[in-house]
Amino acid sequence: MIQYLDPDDKGFFNEKEIRILPKEIESVKTMIWETWENIMAHRFYEGCGKPDCAWCSFVKDNVYPDSFSDPEIEALDD
Ligand SMILES: [Zn+2]
Repeated sequence: MIQYLDPDDKGFFNEKEIRILPKEIESVKTMIWETWENIMAHRFYEGCGKPDCAWCSFVKDNVYPDSFSDPEIEALDD
């Protein structure tokens, strides 16, 4: 169940029930195991390689960007 934290235009806090399929549970279990194995083996994401990427600059050069926010991604929340 997803409970919205922001009310809709009528002031109602919506709820949505989501059915999760067994294959989706298995997919997430696989992701968790792969991530655990990568952490244990010290294999970490090395970035996208784009010269203007704030995240890559932070990871490789320890340069703190003004923000990690991505307006395009944050707009998806609306
Ligand atoms: Zn990057």
